Amino acid sequence: MQKKELFKNIPSVHEILNFCESKNITKKYKKEILKKIIIQTLDELRESISSSNNSYFQNFENKEDIFSYIIYMLNQKINKLENKSYEKIINATGIAIHTNFGRSPINKQISEKTVDIASTYMSIEYDIKNSSRFDRNEPIKNIMQLLTGCEDAIVVNNNAAALLLVFDTFCKNKNALISRGELIEIGDNFRILDIISSTEANIKEIGSTNRTYTNDYEKNIDENTSLILKVNKSNYKITGFTNEVSTKELSNICKMKDLILFEDLGSGNLTDFSKYGFNYEKNVQDILDEGADIVCFSTDKLIGACQGSIIIGKSKYIQKLRKNPIFRALRAGKTVITTIFETLKLYMYKDFNEQIPILSMIFTKQEKLYEKAQKLYNLLDKNLFEYIEIEKSIAQIGGGVSSNTDINSYSLVLKCTNISTNKFEDILRMCKEHIIGYIRDDKLILDMLCIFDDEIEIIAQKINSLKPMIEILDKKDGPTSIFIAD
Ligand SMILES: *Cc1c(COP(=O)(O)O)cnc(C)c1O
Repeated sequence: MQKKELFKNIPSVHEILNFCESKNITKKYKKEILKKIIIQTLDELRESISSSNNSYFQNFENKEDIFSYIIYMLNQKINKLENKSYEKIINATGIAIHTNFGRSPINKQISEKTVDIASTYMSIEYDIKNSSRFDRNEPIKNIMQLLTGCEDAIVVNNNAAALLLVFDTFCKNKNALISRGELIEIGDNFRILDIISSTEANIKEIGSTNRTYTNDYEKNIDENTSLILKVNKSNYKITGFTNEVSTKELSNICKMKDLILFEDLGSGNLTDFSKYGFNYEKNVQDILDEGADIVCFSTDKLIGACQGSIIIGKSKYIQKLRKNPIFRALRAGKTVITTIFETLKLYMYKDFNEQIPILSMIFTKQEKLYEKAQKLYNLLDKNLFEYIEIEKSIAQIGGGVSSNTDINSYSLVLKCTNISTNKFEDILRMCKEHIIGYIRDDKLILDMLCIFDDEIEIIAQKINSLKPMIEILDKKDGPTSIFIAD
């Protein structure tokens, strides 16, 4: 058929809809949803007919041919919709807190408990003993008091929300000071300055990028100043000719001038990193001890729970935050609060670092990483590779979390005999296990740091199972997609 005729013979939405209503796969769909999908399919068909001069459509001989083609395309579309979801990934990138991969993995028992509790009713705001209403932040407050000595605590949906809430509460038409050296971008184009500027605060940038002194703060304080924000430079370092005013010094200024000292700790940790071979890293308690009035930090970075943020500090300030109507818009849901609370409870135990996945990864001994690489090496079919070696690698804490982020790790470094490294990477990423490493010097690097023990065998099985297809795949071209539709 020629184009003109093809267009004339495209069936109506109604005809296809009637057909679908009788078919198993499609009849469970709501009519209005199905209709939209059909319209999309027909639009795409018209588009491909008019933009192509290929002979494919010319082979259609009658209306039935077009009809079957449309049904085929429709089924493809529906399959794609049904199969699309958020999927598990095996993280062989060596980046532990990977924002695109959901940051910190959550302790397995806690995830299970959360899922279980979420599928029924639960006591998020109910005091079972007294049969009365209950503040959902109370358990968080109690555990944070125990862990850090803070007076009070609340949870919001993320750390950006914490900044928003604090600024909205204390800086409406007031001046807030922040050093130019701390105006950071936190990723994905979000900047601290943009977040706090979206409130009615007058932001006063002070000092210079590399040097800010006590005096810069002091000379910018007037009767309209309410708060000083200190931001932890979590994802970059300023070195060389620098000066930064410490929390302690700022606290003295704030006490003298009756201002609030608010510190955005970013990652926030409840751990002594120096016990695990890292440089000492200030933790939440240190910042409180040094005199910050309010401190906020993400719960899905080094804390090792899900997305959220804890705001702790002096009771008189936290109470004000609780009363701000904006807090209602930022409050964390039942699964979030449960996950955060259960994770915080682990910090009471001596072996917390083994129970919190992100910490146990970061603190893994190098020998253990080597053993993991060795195990994978032993399991793999060596015939597949022209290069297969265990090599030292540099993994990272990631997530803009800490100034000492490099971690010595081990990787399995691979180059296949028969297919390009790009294609090999493509196949592993797209297969249903989604094994994601990275390419360097035309070899695939699988870093052991973030691979869970039980994933080693899964990776080995997957790679070994690729043997037949790797052997027939040509090095240069040919689609990989047909091989990865497990
Ligand atoms: C990560 C980070 C944020 C943002 O936290 P989210 O929980 O992602 O909103 C804010 N400030 C600092 C210093 C950070 O490191």
